[in-house]
Amino acid sequence: MTDANSNDLMSLCKRRGFIWPSFELYGGVAGMYDYGPLGCALRNNIVEMWRAIYKGREGFVEIDSETVNPREVLAASGHVENFADLITYCQSCNAPYRADHMVKGFYDNPDVLTPKQLEEAFAKHGIKCPACGGDLGPVGEFNLMFRTNIGPGSARIGYLRPETAQGIFVNYPNLYRYNREKLPLGVIQTGRSYRNEIAPRQGMIRMREFNQMEVELFVDPEDKDWARFSEIENGTLDLIPNTTLQPVTMTVREAVEKGVIANRVLAYFVYTTKQLLTGLGIDPSRLRFREHEKDEMAHYAADCWDAEALLSYGWTEIVGIADRGSWDLSRHAQFSGADLTHLKRFDEPKEMEVEKVAAKHKALGPAFKSRAKDIVAAMEKLSPSDVKDGKLKVSVDGEEIVLGEEYFEIVRRTEKVAGIRVIPHVIEPSHGLDRIFYSILEHAFCQNEDGYTVLKLVPAVAPIKVGVFPLMEKDGLDVMAKEIYEKVHTHRVEAYYDGSGTIGKRYARMDEVGTPWCITVDYDSLRDGTVTIRDRDSTEQKRIRAQDAAAVVDSLLAGRPFAEL
Ligand code: AMP
Repeated sequence: MTDANSNDLMSLCKRRGFIWPSFELYGGVAGMYDYGPLGCALRNNIVEMWRAIYKGREGFVEIDSETVNPREVLAASGHVENFADLITYCQSCNAPYRADHMVKGFYDNPDVLTPKQLEEAFAKHGIKCPACGGDLGPVGEFNLMFRTNIGPGSARIGYLRPETAQGIFVNYPNLYRYNREKLPLGVIQTGRSYRNEIAPRQGMIRMREFNQMEVELFVDPEDKDWARFSEIENGTLDLIPNTTLQPVTMTVREAVEKGVIANRVLAYFVYTTKQLLTGLGIDPSRLRFREHEKDEMAHYAADCWDAEALLSYGWTEIVGIADRGSWDLSRHAQFSGADLTHLKRFDEPKEMEVEKVAAKHKALGPAFKSRAKDIVAAMEKLSPSDVKDGKLKVSVDGEEIVLGEEYFEIVRRTEKVAGIRVIPHVIEPSHGLDRIFYSILEHAFCQNEDGYTVLKLVPAVAPIKVGVFPLMEKDGLDVMAKEIYEKVHTHRVEAYYDGSGTIGKRYARMDEVGTPWCITVDYDSLRDGTVTIRDRDSTEQKRIRAQDAAAVVDSLLAGRPFAEL
């Protein structure tokens, strides 16, 4: 067997209904793919395993938020201003290119170069348009978000979301209430995200419409521990820390004790990511965790690690796991004016001296008349830290009112205080579902010298769990095989009936799509009620009672070794 060749794999995916280039009838669109029946089933199985860990094991909650987001949300998140790649156009044929991709090979980290440095690099290394050899033009910014209008006209600008995470952040008050105002609060969301990539290549690695599985865990900034840490602390991780840039293998506990991973909660979810990915069939020897280099890491992030899979494209990021500090909630609090804090309750309320915003009623009454009451109520919800340049902004009935110091004062009072308010920190494991899907296929793809292909998918993700064949489609063998098919096939255990071609061809068709087991009905079956079951990886065959077929498949799926049948 040889390793995956991306072209062979992609042609298998197309031929057998895993993945189809979108809109092929009309010439296709780069960076867009449709999932066929087998792809859809495989993708759903990945999502189910992710859910089993985050919802099942960790008890996180799942939401489903809108894909069209108003501009305000993405302005607060920083995407409107900063979510851009650097672009250059060929001066002769006008082809667009990602400027940093043009200098790959000359620099370790080309995505940190400035537009000017990139232009200098084109000149220095004689880099030309790969299509026509023309000169590359000036380097500019290209925002990756797809823009649209919400409603008729351009009254409200919207964007297709570039990540699913923002839908979780903007729902923090609802989620916090749902979680009965307690931390930690873990939330998951899977769905489509959109990035108008400049020149998508590399198949499913860089898509314009792609699927994410994001996890946002809100934690107390002073409590970055995880109750189940001891369960995984002896597990090992292959790491590339940004201090040495050298691969090192260490236990999760060591990684935290030596300060390689910033804290126990982040380390726990790095290891959880390893558990998920290897459980899905990613080859552990082709999986590593690389820490973002200092100039690569977002300025607000305390630490950030990428799970990288070794693919035919080289080491490729498939999941990002970051400690994002208080950035996301602070920004949304600042832009929306909402309270996005957590109340850390004291055991007993304490008498404390506190600073408060107090309304100057005598000035507000005459100035704002009947609205004064609502303004006072809105002011009293604010804190002294909301005063900016001596002014306070309040929102009343959707209208923003800016109040000068003649309308309020900061007073000190002794009050019974229930606790202190903190902005939660966010730990984010962000999974690229399509990249995981593709990595699983590459790592499962085996082909021998004769071109015989087996997808060694783990049973849990395999789209078809069992093939059911009559040796011949006659003499009642087909009737019995169809009965078995009916018993085994459910929406969770997909079975596939195949009566055409030689048995060898039918096994080959199932091996090629990763079906772990095949059941064959032969003439002995009619006599003694037994059938053969074949294991994909060992090609070993056993006889079982036909009436036990569904139970046997269930037990194999639950992890019973084939050899023990
Ligand atoms: P990011 O927000 O850029 O860290 O992306 C989160 C995850 O989504 C990454 O780890 C990737 O696996 C995946 N991803 C990002 N961009 C794309 C894309 N254009 N196509 C497919 N997957 C992507």
